[in-house]
Amino acid sequence: AAALVILSFLMLAPVNYVGSFFYIGLTGRSAEKKIAEIEEIPVHQSVARPLDIDLHTGDLVLENVGASYDGEHRTLRGVNAVFPAGSRTAVIGPSGSGKTTLLRVLQGQLEPDEGIIHDGRHGMGPATLKHNAAVVEQHATLFALTLRENLQLAAPLATNAQMVHALEQAGLGGWLGDQATRRLDEPLGESGARLSGGQAQRLALARALLAGRPLLLLDEPTSSLDVQTEAEVLATLRGLDRSITTVTVTHRLGLLADYDRVIVMDGGRIIQSGDRQALLAQDGYLKRAMEHFTQRARGLRTAHSGRDK
Ligand code: ADP
Ligand code: MG
Repeated sequence: AAALVILSFLMLAPVNYVGSFFYIGLTGRSAEKKIAEIEEIPVHQSVARPLDIDLHTGDLVLENVGASYDGEHRTLRGVNAVFPAGSRTAVIGPSGSGKTTLLRVLQGQLEPDEGIIHDGRHGMGPATLKHNAAVVEQHATLFALTLRENLQLAAPLATNAQMVHALEQAGLGGWLGDQATRRLDEPLGESGARLSGGQAQRLALARALLAGRPLLLLDEPTSSLDVQTEAEVLATLRGLDRSITTVTVTHRLGLLADYDRVIVMDGGRIIQSGDRQALLAQDGYLKRAMEHFTQRARGLRTAHSGRDK
């Protein structure tokens, strides 16, 4: 079922210079909701502007952060976390526990109404966070423009070489082939290159890498990829410059060794954090989830062997 990729093309009224766009829905969920997300694409985010804070040198600290979508129901509460500069953090936890919301706060899209976010010296508001973060969302959003224009949304001044490099980093080198520079001017969508869900996701990753932000936020970036592609993308992330801090929401519990630290969320709170080994040593979500998977795998093996007992 995960392999099911639905491409829907939606032509809308002009939005600024973006005449039309298509949306690649990786799971075919509510397109309406996705439109709202597309319209929020922060194209102006990339306009050069002096940085008051440079996360390349500072840790990202959340102290007692709370956030709400409607000012009434608490979606995040009492969140305390430190994301050391250059660290790789995985965020895990059940569906609805607030993982995506935490990423929205970190990218300056949702402003906390409690607590403080700082780098050890300065408070960081939504505008600063927006300027420091690049995001790969769960569902890639691409426009019916050329490949180049899709990349320029994140980095208007990027050179051909930088674009091709980012695409290669994201595992699209083979897809680009040896006519890479020419392919940059190929339109995406009906009249041009058709992308699979995995390719769209890798293009979104290339765009985020090209933005060159110190904070890279990824929301289940590999959930729609096949095993081989996922391995390629994870290798890209492992190979990233250590000056980039990454926060990745993931449900691939078997791959947590790739991260320096793991945060477990439940009910809008962080209920556990530490490295994978430390979490496995505690009686908590990760240990129980891993035991569950192991038992299930054993059960499957027993069933397949056809010789129960
Ligand atoms: P997760 O990513 O861990 O599955 P989310 O952060 O998406 O969880 O959601 C946490 C809670 O916030 C859920 O109860 C969800 O219904 C609610 N929520 C998520 N997005 C919105 C939104 N845009 N408006 C209102 N409530 C939301
Ligand atoms: Mg989520």
